[in-house]
Amino acid sequence: LSTRASTVLSAAGIPADSELPGVYHGEWVGSGDILESVCPTTGEVLARVLSASPHELNTALERSRDAYTTFRLMPAPKRGEILRQIREALAAKRDELGALVSLEMGKIKTEGSGEVQEFIDIADYAVGLSRMMNGRMVASERPGHSILEVPNPLGVVAVLSAFNFPVAVYGWNLALSLAAGNATLWKPSPSTPLCSIAVTKIVAGVLEKNGVPGAVAGLVIGDRNVGEAVVESQDVDMVSFTGSEFVGRQVGRVVQSRFGKVLLELGGNNAAIVMPDADLDLAVPAVFFGAVGTAGQRCTSTRRLYLHRDIAPAFIERLASLYASVRPGDPLDQSTLLGPLHTRAAVGIYSDAVDRLRKQGAQILTGGALYHELKEPLDGGNFVMPTIAIPKVVEVKDAVWSQETFAPVLCIGVFDELDQAIAWNNGVPQGLSSSLWTRDLRNVGKWIGPAGSDAGIVNVNVGTSGAEIGAAFGGNKSTGWGRESGGDAWKQYVRWSACTVNFSDDAPLAQGVQFST
Ligand code: NAD
Repeated sequence: LSTRASTVLSAAGIPADSELPGVYHGEWVGSGDILESVCPTTGEVLARVLSASPHELNTALERSRDAYTTFRLMPAPKRGEILRQIREALAAKRDELGALVSLEMGKIKTEGSGEVQEFIDIADYAVGLSRMMNGRMVASERPGHSILEVPNPLGVVAVLSAFNFPVAVYGWNLALSLAAGNATLWKPSPSTPLCSIAVTKIVAGVLEKNGVPGAVAGLVIGDRNVGEAVVESQDVDMVSFTGSEFVGRQVGRVVQSRFGKVLLELGGNNAAIVMPDADLDLAVPAVFFGAVGTAGQRCTSTRRLYLHRDIAPAFIERLASLYASVRPGDPLDQSTLLGPLHTRAAVGIYSDAVDRLRKQGAQILTGGALYHELKEPLDGGNFVMPTIAIPKVVEVKDAVWSQETFAPVLCIGVFDELDQAIAWNNGVPQGLSSSLWTRDLRNVGKWIGPAGSDAGIVNVNVGTSGAEIGAAFGGNKSTGWGRESGGDAWKQYVRWSACTVNFSDDAPLAQGVQFST
């Protein structure tokens, strides 16, 4: 193992050069298929992980259920205290975990640490929430009666997560689920097992110190088979799935068919619209970050850019010059802005998307190729050039506009009227994030109103990517309608009961119904 990798792994508590157990349910076990964690920057194998065998998965599910039956009785503010300790333990390892994310996923270090910060932030939020997960009292029409809407812990929440946020997505879910009194079982992406092991170790340490069963925050690493088994299990009350539309569609069907709860956070195809009155000093760098940041591997990455005709030439010139300044590099180096794609397969997806654009006669303004002659160790990495394409026409139903390519490919279209740009924004199946750049209040009103953007995230003078934890995060339409993190998202992690209590000496029926002899 390179020194570069072994330093990061040992700082994050991952033993180097070993086969690691990939299941935690109070104990660490693992005897299923071996998964390799491959560094996207160099191609080296970072570690081998023993995934969950069918038997180990069943044990994990059983232990999660058992853990729930005791954990649900702990008062919510006490659960909040555990979250506070998890928050402290994560904060103490923020940079080490951030570097691990950078090493294993491939995003640049500042974004890796930012992702851990997101977990810290949502843990803070959930500490507060643990004293505010209130039900309510509803006026009853019957004398001497009260109606209460009561939230109680839900059960076992399975979190299936994507490779691109190997820490934060779990954090959003765990924090709310734990505050709500559930047991949470995490099935992370098989290509980022080390991040999930490092995080689970930290959480497990806190649970153990507090005498709480480890299976309150269990882990089952595995590929698609393990994912399918978790999704099918009657022991799982809610499946919170973050990933592709393709897999989300199957997960949604399976969970619905057994009447489980499902929360879907699927792909995005996010547009930014720039009006002629926009401040380009703000808009150009924001689009640059949205499209090139994380090498285009955020669900909220900017993939479509609609420019008003009046500013299009100036905007494109400025954006292209930022693109020209980008150099690929080791995401662990402070100066790097562009890391690799996460897998070899993603490089193929990028190349196919560029080919498709070329075949359609799109102008490839910049990029459109792999980097050749990169120096060791980057020559083993999955580096691609950030690409700006100008398709001949904006035909939103066409694949170049309507499909999510999980790579840094930005398509530009030019419009004359805001209504046209909003129609293009809304004309795709996905509905995650969107961004309008303008100083005109009338445009803002239209954009955030009934005839405006139909996405779950509707920004003004803020790029499509980089959400905070305070608001509910998620997308509409084929993005799955799920909401996680802030806002009212916690309400999905509990089971609600309407409880009518009769304090009186009579037992009247509702609506004045009489039923006596
Ligand atoms: P993916 O769909 O390939 O995998 C997601 C998870 O599902 C993984 O844990 C995987 O092992 C598991 N899985 C695969 N097949 C399964 C099956 N049949 N049943 C159950 N589980 C199965 O996604 P990915 O490539 O890891 O992530 C990229 C995608 O995730 C992109 O589309 C991106 O937009 C999306 N994403 C969305 C959000 C959001 O909040 N909306 C956030 C991050 C990523």
